[in-house]
Amino acid sequence: MDKFIVVRYGEIALKQGNRKMFEKTLTGNIKRQIGKSTVQRIRGRIIVTVSPEKLSEAEMAIKRTSGVQNYSLGSWTTYDINDIFSTSIELAKAEMMKGRRTFKVETRRLDKRFPIKSIELNPLVGEKILEAIPEVSVDIHNPQFVVEIEIRDEGVLISSGKTQAIGGLPVGVSGRALLFLSGGIDSPVAGWLAQKRGLSIDAIHFSSPPYTGEMAFEKVLSLAKRLSLFNGGRMLKFYSVHFTQAQMAIHRHVQERYSLVCQRRLMMRIADRIADKTHIKAMVTGENLGQVASQTLENMAVIAEPTDKLVLRPLITYDKIETISIARAIETFEISILPYEDCCTIFVPSSPVTKARMIDIQRVEAGLDFDEIVREALNRSQVYRIRNGDVLEVEKLELSEEAC
Ligand code: ATP
Ligand code: MG
Repeated sequence: MDKFIVVRYGEIALKQGNRKMFEKTLTGNIKRQIGKSTVQRIRGRIIVTVSPEKLSEAEMAIKRTSGVQNYSLGSWTTYDINDIFSTSIELAKAEMMKGRRTFKVETRRLDKRFPIKSIELNPLVGEKILEAIPEVSVDIHNPQFVVEIEIRDEGVLISSGKTQAIGGLPVGVSGRALLFLSGGIDSPVAGWLAQKRGLSIDAIHFSSPPYTGEMAFEKVLSLAKRLSLFNGGRMLKFYSVHFTQAQMAIHRHVQERYSLVCQRRLMMRIADRIADKTHIKAMVTGENLGQVASQTLENMAVIAEPTDKLVLRPLITYDKIETISIARAIETFEISILPYEDCCTIFVPSSPVTKARMIDIQRVEAGLDFDEIVREALNRSQVYRIRNGDVLEVEKLELSEEAC
């Protein structure tokens, strides 16, 4: 028999003005992950219907979907009181098998044609459960599980055992952003936090072969695939930018202590070009205040200067330990700590400037032909189209002439 997952959303229900759009987006995001015919929106809930063998896969997808507050497993029954009893008992048994021992029954009578009032139905169902399952008892104030009965126009929906999901907003309601993805611990977490706030992300990564190896690239690609699982089933475009010539140009022309900041500014210029072409209005980075000497307010401002897009830094105030605990939860940590470096040590200055000033940057960058460097880097770049964890297509990056 088909299984039902009752999906509840919290925060989005509060935003009255946008509620419809949020619900539609969330429903669409779930559909894109687990198939169209199985997802149905009914007042204040989303019901996902799956075959028993698809249940755990569907549960995993729902757990990863931002905008979902919690979910429970449930069944539809008829208005027949005996059906209501037997379904409630079946669900309570499943909870008991998981070791839960105390419960209460909660009824919402949305269809007032149903003859029994909520406060009358609760004890009736409770008694039947107690009779059928001697291991459990009622605890009104602090139950280990709740049997929820909803009397609806469509039938009676009974569910139990809420599982918390990630909350946040459905991916897409806040627009799109371009994530600067390195192989480190921080940037994947920054991307996930952006997704959790309703941003659909694309990602950009700069590598410098042969100075950076194939394995380092594979690692970042794995991170991008992992993040695509949180993108509401939407396509995540992963731009792999060939940065070698750009880094060489900086290495040749720019004083060593300024090279890191100039290199980041150049990354920003390239990303800005892609964002212009793809109508993206914000960048996301894993920058964090003071984590390394180069991440100061002054440097961050100078690094963001070449773009007119908003630069979001979700981790700006995080302690490393907080970042790591998210990285573990979203399972990017294990990938990030693989030993392959994403940038070559020969390009990392031994004592980078900590308080860069625009006036000095303009001076050290004076000899660089940015148009040419950006065009060259983009010409050798690729775009990976990734959805639900799989790379669907890899193409040479094509931005039309006027963009480059
Ligand atoms: P992370 O753990 O994300 O690498 P970090 O603390 O090591 O961050 P940095 O290496 O200074 O800090 O990088 C700061 C941010 O710049 C990164 O979080 C990322 O957003 C961006 N970044 C750095 N290197 C690259 C790269 N090769 N490609 C794309 N973005 C990068
Ligand atoms: Mg790093």
